[in-house]
Formats: sequence, C-alpha cells, structure tokens
Amino acid sequence: MKKKLAVLGATGSIGKNTVDIIRQNPDDFEPVLFTGNTDREALLRLGREFPGVPLALSGGMGKAGVDGIAYYGKAGLLRAVAECGADIAVNGIAGSAGLEPSLAAIEAGCDVALANKETVVMAGPLVFERAGEKKVNILPVDSEHSAIFHLINAYGRENVDRVFLTASGGPFRTLSTEDLALVGVRDALAHPTWKMGAKISLDSATLANKGLEVIEACRLFNMEPEDITVLIHPQSIVHSMIRLRNNAVYAQLSQPDMRLPIQEALYRPETRPSPFGALDFRGLSLEFAEPDGERFPMLPLAYEAAKRGGLYPLVYNAANEIAAETFFREKIHFLDIARIVRYVMEKDWQGSCLNLETILKTDREARRIAFTLIGDI
Ligand code: NDP
Ligand code: MG
Repeated sequence: MKKKLAVLGATGSIGKNTVDIIRQNPDDFEPVLFTGNTDREALLRLGREFPGVPLALSGGMGKAGVDGIAYYGKAGLLRAVAECGADIAVNGIAGSAGLEPSLAAIEAGCDVALANKETVVMAGPLVFERAGEKKVNILPVDSEHSAIFHLINAYGRENVDRVFLTASGGPFRTLSTEDLALVGVRDALAHPTWKMGAKISLDSATLANKGLEVIEACRLFNMEPEDITVLIHPQSIVHSMIRLRNNAVYAQLSQPDMRLPIQEALYRPETRPSPFGALDFRGLSLEFAEPDGERFPMLPLAYEAAKRGGLYPLVYNAANEIAAETFFREKIHFLDIARIVRYVMEKDWQGSCLNLETILKTDREARRIAFTLIGDI
C-alpha cells in the first residue's frame, strides 16, 4: 500500500528533495498535501505535476479553492495538516514557523519526518510527550541526527557514551575574527558542501546551526550536552559518529545529499536502494578538528542553553532568528549575531517548555528583547 505523504515546506530545499523522492518512487508514496509560504508559482507547479493534491499557501492571500490553492494563511496551513489524512508528514518548513505544523501533524496521528530542528529546540519535551500519547514516531531528517538515530538503533542507547556531531565549519572556517567582522550576506550564503535555504546557510556560517543541532541531539537522544562533541569535518562525508562504552566508534558515511536521510525516514524501518550517496574512497581524505568557540561563540552559547535547559534553547533560537533576519537586511554585522543572542540569554528564562502558550509567549518576549538591543546597535 502506498504511504500517504504530506510535504510541509514543499517549495524549499528539503521540500524539493522530498518531491524528488516521490517522483522516483511513485509506487510507494502518494502525496496528500503540499505547503508553501510565499512561493505561489512553485506551489502551483506542484499542483499541476500532481493533480488533485491539495495545496496550502500559508503566507499568501486569496480565495481558497478558486485559484487552485485550497488553504490560505497560517490557520489554513494548520487545518490542511489536520485534514490531509497523511501517514507521514515531512516537515521542511524553515524556522520557528515549523513548530505548530509539527504539533498539528502529531495531533492528527501522523508520523513526522523532521527536518525542522526548531520543533525540537523550541519544544522538545512537549513534542515528545504529545507524540508518545498519540503513538506517532518522530523521525529525524537532519543528516547528523539521522546518522545518530540509525547508529543508536543498531548498537543500543545504553551502550553509547559519546556522540561526535560533525560540522562542515561553514564558509568562514579559516577566517580570523577581524575578517569575520567584514563578511557580508552573499559570503555567508556560499556554503562549501551543502545546498540549503538561506537561514540554515547563515547558521552554518556562524555555527548556530551546529549549536541548534547540539540541543536537538540532547533532546532527541536524551543526552547531556557534555556528552556531545562537535568536530569540524570540512568534507561533510562522515555525518556523525557514536562511541560505545568500550571505546569503539561507529560512523555513518555518504555523499552529502539530503535525499538519503529523507528516504531513510520515509521507508523506516526498511532500507531501500538509492541512486545517491555512494562514496568512492579512492583519493578521499577525511579531516577532523576542534571548533573554535572564540571565533564562533554561537556554539558555546548553545551548550550554555542546553545546560540550562527549559526555555533557554527556545530563547537561543528566537534571538538568533531575529539576529539572522536583521543581518540579511544588512542592518547589523556578522559578529553582532552572537552579541544579540548572548544579550537575550543573559535574562532569566527559567521555566518549563511543556505548555505551548508559555513557549509562544517566551518566544515573542525573547524576540522583543533582541529588538531592543538591535535598536541600540
Ligand atoms: P528553505 O528556506 O529552502 O525552505 C523553507 C520552506 O519553508 C519553504 O517551503 C518556505 O515557503 C517555507 N516557509 C518559510 N517560512 C514559513 C512560514 N512562516 N510558515 C510556513 N512555511 C514557511 O529551507 P530549508 O529547506 O533549507 O530548511 C528547512 C528546515 O529544514 C529548517 O528547519 C532547516 O534547519 C532544516 N534542515 C535543512 C537542511 C537542508 O539541507 N536544506 C538540512 C537539515 C535540516 P516559501 O519558499 O514558499 O516561502
Ligand atoms: Mg544538519
């Protein structure tokens, strides 16, 4: 029987990779929803390629149903997720906007293949509680977490004493702090190994992406931050590793191609052949180095947020989103991003993130405080 698949963020990088897998495996998957935010044309193209599949445009306006788009606005997006009848939803929405659609999918009894790391960073405890009650699976799609997920399933969580989370290091890996002060938007978007959306590309340049992933790993795999080591690995071939108590290390290696972790999540627990990801070891050299927290303070700040727990990870994410947006508008410098996040995290954010209202309220408050500092820069 075909798996019914909802693609949230179908107009983005993860979404396009997911649609590619649907195209290659028409006997296995039936799309039941495509969503986009602003790219109406790309969404309508999907509608023409897959006639009859409902479309939702969360950022746009229009008369639902009249122009080929069945749902409009944020409320429309959440309704679409609730009504589409998917077995599994791929959440490739960028940023904090992905949280409520993840929860809507869980409430609808649907497994979630989760690329949207913000869902876990903002509300991991709530999300896992709801997923447990609804008996649905949260399957990590982030390449590192997909790797760790499969390794832990193979070797047993109780045997794992350390996770090595690999990071490409981004485009500025070798720059001095003086040079980092001068980088612009275009430089930050030129990721060396992965082709991704704008926000995650910038986050890879500041190492905020790895920071978010440290938090994501703590929450997904129930680990302490001090048991996670980030390693700079410029080739992006080793997608992460686990070390067992006996010091044996196991790794997942493949070409950097997001279709592989997406396919793994969609077919789980089966492993299917794929036309991508194969490695040629001839001439391949793999390097590892320690990240520099002085030049890239977004990484130590994430460890701090993970250690404090509760609402701190959410605040880290919210402040970083505001800082990133402001950097994209060329109103602040690259190094201001971490300054803003540090400033917001210095406030008191004790509290539990089991309640959606508290989460959304704290998210708004953290953004407001970020803006007060930006006003002074
Ligand atoms: P993109 O920017 O390429 O795509 C984002 C998608 O989300 C688009 O479909 C966009 O719609 C939609 N979207 C944006 N804002 C909103 C909103 N407010 N409400 C609803 N939908 C919205 O991002 P990526 O695909 O690169 O990343 C998506 C998520 O996956 C992120 O959380 C990222 O961290 C994670 N991820 C991505 C990887 C990658 O390789 N790209 C790897 C690992 C994780 P539209 O374009 O129509 O405006
Ligand atoms: Mg990743």
